[in-house]
Amino acid sequence: MKRDTIAAIATPSGRGGIGIVRISGDRAFDIALSLFRPRSLPDRLFQPKQIISHHLYYGDIVQPDTQAVLDEVLIAFMKAPHSYTREDVVEIQAHSGYAVLKAILSAVLQGGAAPAGPGEFTRRAFLNGRIDLTQAESVIDIINSKTETSLAAAADHLSGGFRKHAGRISSGLRDILVRIEAAIDFPDEAEDFQPLSVAPLLEACVLEPIETLIRQHEDGRVIRDGYRITIVGRPNVGKSSLMNWLVGSDRSIVTDIPGTTRDVVADAVVFRGIPVNFFDTAGVHVTQDTVELLGIEKTYERIRASDLMLLVQDVSCADTGLESRLLEQAGDIPVIRVLNKIDLAPNPDNVVGNMESASLPVVAVSVKNRLNLDALADRIAREILRKIPGQAPAGLIPNLRQARALENAAACIRQALEGIQRKIPAEIISMDVRDALDWIDEITGARTSDEILDRIFDAFCIGK
Ligand code: GDP
Repeated sequence: MKRDTIAAIATPSGRGGIGIVRISGDRAFDIALSLFRPRSLPDRLFQPKQIISHHLYYGDIVQPDTQAVLDEVLIAFMKAPHSYTREDVVEIQAHSGYAVLKAILSAVLQGGAAPAGPGEFTRRAFLNGRIDLTQAESVIDIINSKTETSLAAAADHLSGGFRKHAGRISSGLRDILVRIEAAIDFPDEAEDFQPLSVAPLLEACVLEPIETLIRQHEDGRVIRDGYRITIVGRPNVGKSSLMNWLVGSDRSIVTDIPGTTRDVVADAVVFRGIPVNFFDTAGVHVTQDTVELLGIEKTYERIRASDLMLLVQDVSCADTGLESRLLEQAGDIPVIRVLNKIDLAPNPDNVVGNMESASLPVVAVSVKNRLNLDALADRIAREILRKIPGQAPAGLIPNLRQARALENAAACIRQALEGIQRKIPAEIISMDVRDALDWIDEITGARTSDEILDRIFDAFCIGK
């Protein structure tokens, strides 16, 4: 397929040591050569036809009409197919500053390149068959990685572990489909075919690996998207102060007026190497103020969607029905009771002792005086570690899109297995197996629509 030659600034905007303009497509070399004046070689020795691929040349980029020098650069020509996109690619390493990079890019565009859309270089790498969709998606994960753990997971994906795994499931399904369709097309030759005979194969080679991947998606969520901690409690017990200490900033407003934190305030931090999202919620109390009621409903929703709830209480206030309502919302979600303001209690040990008889872990702290906060952080870390997947290789943790496709595939396989049990015609069973195969192929991009590609690549930045 004939595609435009595209170009974009590939490095983040702002001042820095080096900024890169990247060009990809049939005309990339011609366009770059029309702007480049080598310094290390006399012009007559610099023969466009003899350019060495993946070699750095030193020189100037000039404005083609005026020959004015735009910047001193290093430039690399990468001959297809040995490039990021599998097309001819040129990377111009200039100084990084918005004006200089923009001037070079304009010269390249004037030379005949089209501006690249978000993720268009990676999209071409996919369309030209260098990488599959799982690898393309991991590129964006690598760019977005905030912790070493999530970076390792994304890098594993990029190396193709998941692609291979999905490929194995897909070829297993294809083999099974061939056997079922042979029985349909050649009923005489395949007399011994019993749909029942493919059932164990479907289960062992397809359904089980798919279910394992779905579980790993759920387990891997913490590494990918972050562990979710919701901080709840009555107004004025010190929730915002605690949140601020945990995230190390002053984002939630700390005040003496009950109910100031009306909405849910969220903050993402790296907590002991794991991405954690903290949610500071509206204080819960009985109120006629509808705004606060809305906040309370949001608090309940937040609790139900969290991995851990911190129930903050003021050490000098007795339990009320509110705490039990919050615990009710938590259901099976682990809870740590945080008894705050021990600086105000004459005898905090007694209070903690009384509380500990309940089944919840209790940590007594003073956020204000920084008492016992490290013990609380340790306790939180212990809870987080329980959610980190043990044995799954990081590269085999599907993302949300992949998990959805896997769930759909699993549903089709279950339907096929049920059909086999009920001895329904092989034609119908083969349709279910084919649908499952389509879902698996959608993961790698072997079968996909423009709409899915747009959704994936629109999340990229320009220049990637
Ligand atoms: P929230 O409404 O639960 O978010 O509570 P805030 O974090 O806004 O705190 C309410 C008030 O309690 C503020 O004046 C804080 O300074 C104060 N406070 C927070 N933690 C402590 C503590 O450990 N000891 C004491 N004495 N006061 C605290």
